[in-house]
Parts: sequence; structure tokens; C-alpha cells
Amino acid sequence: MIETIEKRGIVDEDVLRAMRSVPRHLFVPENQQDFAYGDYPLPIGYGQTISQPYIVALMTELLELKEDNRVLEIGTGSGYQAAILAEIPGLEVYTMEIVPELAASACQRLKDLGYTNVECRQGDGYFGWPEHGPFDAIIVTAAPDHVPQPLVDQLVEGGRMVIPIGPPGSYQTLWKFVKQPDGELKAFNMGGVAFVPFTGEGMKESEEHGWPPP
Ligand code: SAH
Repeated sequence: MIETIEKRGIVDEDVLRAMRSVPRHLFVPENQQDFAYGDYPLPIGYGQTISQPYIVALMTELLELKEDNRVLEIGTGSGYQAAILAEIPGLEVYTMEIVPELAASACQRLKDLGYTNVECRQGDGYFGWPEHGPFDAIIVTAAPDHVPQPLVDQLVEGGRMVIPIGPPGSYQTLWKFVKQPDGELKAFNMGGVAFVPFTGEGMKESEEHGWPPP
């Protein structure tokens, strides 16, 4: 798995070390464990998937994480991406999941594996986790059709957000945003990806279309 992601261009040593350390097979259902280290997504129940290792590594690298950074993940799923973040030295990790059963099992798993620098909770990530913000980095692992404005508001100046945006059930574009002093987002297109849809009332009811502009 490590060889594959290195070949595909991942160079950040902290990311590679994290990918080597986290036992990915413990984050997938038992009948998927034989496939855990292949470079593809796998089902984790409730219609959701654990992202493929390369995408996990790429998104983590794009966040440009530094010691003492506070990071928010939306879409805990299995907890694997949160564990990778927790292995990067000196981070404080917060992760939110909307499906109660997945939130409960992922939180338990992260606790059992001894990750003390991750806090997780069930909830609609559209609204972020303002009590713990602002964040230096935000990673969204389900695809909305626009950037949730509350997440932009919870990003520090110079903060990075990595997020797939596009129509649900189809292909999306992976974006990296950097928040500018005027609150605007500088956007970098990282190519095509396929993520599960971003669900919840927040996105449906919101009139705010932070980015892209309508
Ligand atoms: N990062 C995960 C993969 C997650 S798949 C891992 O490493 O395993 C995307 C997850 O986002 C799904 O579990 C889905 O339920 C969750 N999700 C979708 N919409 C959400 C929302 N509004 N708030 C929080 N989580 C959401």
C-alpha cells in the first residue's frame, strides 16, 4: 500500500509514517479485511465507504499540517482518516459523523486503539464544530454541492480546506482552498474524485453558497 501511494506521488514523510502506522484492516468489516491494503475504497455499512488509501494520503498531504494545528474532519465514517490525522505529530483532531451508528462505532474504535488526541461526535457537519474552532485545517470526506459557509467561518486566516464538490452520486472535483485575509477562498483544483453524498438538513436548507459562486 505504501509503495503504491509513494508511486502515485505522496512525499510528505509525516503522512507516509502515519499511513504505515495505522492498521487499516481494523477499520473495515471482517469480510473486507483481506482487501484492506489495496488501493480502492471499501464498504463500511450504511451505504458508506472508507476512501482509498491514496485519496486519504493526498487529502492529508494537501492540508499542510503543522505541529499544534487544530483539524476538523467532516465524515468520520470508519474513523480511518481521523486516525491518520491523529498520527501526525502534535495535532488536535475533531471529527463529526451524521450517521449515529457509524459515529458510535468509529468513536469506540479510536478510543480502543488509544488515540487520545481525537474528539468525535455525532452531528451534521454542515454547521461544523464552533465550540472547538477556529481550525487550521478542515477536511470534508463526503461531497456537498457547495462549500458550507459555517466551515469557511470556522477556518483561521491562512487555513486550508480540502473538500470534494459536485453533484451527489456522480464525480466531483477535489478542491483545496486557502482562506485569504479578506475571508475569500483561494481555490486549487486537485482533479476528479468520487465521494459519497454529503447529507443532512444543513446543506438542503442553506441559502448560502459560499463557493463556488452561483
Ligand atoms: N473519512 C471516512 C470515510 C467517510 S465516507 C473514513 O476514513 O472512513 C463519508 C462519511 O460522511 C459517511 O460516513 C457519511 O455518513 C458522512 N456524512 C455525510 N454527510 C455528512 C454530514 N452532513 N455531516 C457529517 N458526516 C456526514
